[in-house]
Amino acid sequence: MKFTGLKNKVSKLTPAEKKELMTFLKNSFSVFDDYATVNQCPFCQSKKFIKHDNRNNVVRYLCKDCHKTFTYKTNTILSGIYAKNLHKWNAFVEDFMSLNIAPLDEICNKLDISKQTAFNWRHKLIASLDTKGNTKFSNESIEFDETYFLISRKGRQDSNHGYKKLRYWRKSQVGDSKYNVKVFFTYGRDSKQLELTQSHMGRTSANDLKNYFTANKFDGIRILSDSHPTYKSFFKNNGFDFDTFTGKYHIKSTDRTVHNQTVNAYVRNFKDFVNKHLHGVSTKYLTSYAKWFEFVCQAKAIVKQELQSADKIVRFNITENICENVVSDRIGLELFRQAEYSFIRFLTNNNRSNFGNCKNHYYSGKIAC
Ligand SMILES: [Zn+2]
Repeated sequence: MKFTGLKNKVSKLTPAEKKELMTFLKNSFSVFDDYATVNQCPFCQSKKFIKHDNRNNVVRYLCKDCHKTFTYKTNTILSGIYAKNLHKWNAFVEDFMSLNIAPLDEICNKLDISKQTAFNWRHKLIASLDTKGNTKFSNESIEFDETYFLISRKGRQDSNHGYKKLRYWRKSQVGDSKYNVKVFFTYGRDSKQLELTQSHMGRTSANDLKNYFTANKFDGIRILSDSHPTYKSFFKNNGFDFDTFTGKYHIKSTDRTVHNQTVNAYVRNFKDFVNKHLHGVSTKYLTSYAKWFEFVCQAKAIVKQELQSADKIVRFNITENICENVVSDRIGLELFRQAEYSFIRFLTNNNRSNFGNCKNHYYSGKIAC
């Protein structure tokens, strides 16, 4: 055994020394270490690079074409994680991979980090999953539905306006308010894929559906949805194969395969996740949470499927999956930084220069979820 001598020495240490050693080990290891292979320069994509130096156990490379130096962390969400925080970051990622989102307060207490740090880490991890959104549905029946969340600037610091005023405004937004942000849900019955897309604000129009049902996402599908007049006329006018049921009955009486029950359960879970578990989320992070929810559902479904298979070995490795995404991702960090701009763009695209006399409706809380 390679470590026999070392293990003997360790066993003779005092408890205090063992503790010190444990901290040392924790701080020199990251779950991402196994994924630290570099294939190309992150700046110019050149494959011509050499080893430059080795700092804090991380190899730095030098690109022979653009002469910049980089590590496997450069331009990924890992770039801002310092060695002194590494063991906290590891514990944080572990919690993230458990597929449960613990409330931020709980994580902060456990890891002794600030709420802002916990918040940034969470959103960086979510953003790097967000960029893998190339779901495609082909030759299958899909269940389609939508849900909405009233626009929210949770976490925005603005002490000029009161919480009471905001609450009053939020209560006045009943029915299909033009400040409702719509999220489309699609579930493929054969592929068992789930897809969530933050689409638009206000009432759903034929144009919103046209932007969503694009050829590069859907091919040879049969759409099952409730008999919303806008849906029906859009599907009919655009030659989609579709079948509908009356919303209040949840199922078509003449053909009981026509229903939305699977996607509906996901819609309810997502609403509970956002409204009850997270106590609402700021609209600028809604897309991120939608992608996170999608990822978690997908991962749970795969784990469940693998558990049921004959050999009882779970081949889907969530750690592997997240790590590969994170180290290969060059967009997540930028997405994270641009969240506020994306939100403003979303408002402009929907012809809302504010959100309902918005200056009065900033919630003066602290950190958003
Ligand atoms: Zn280069």
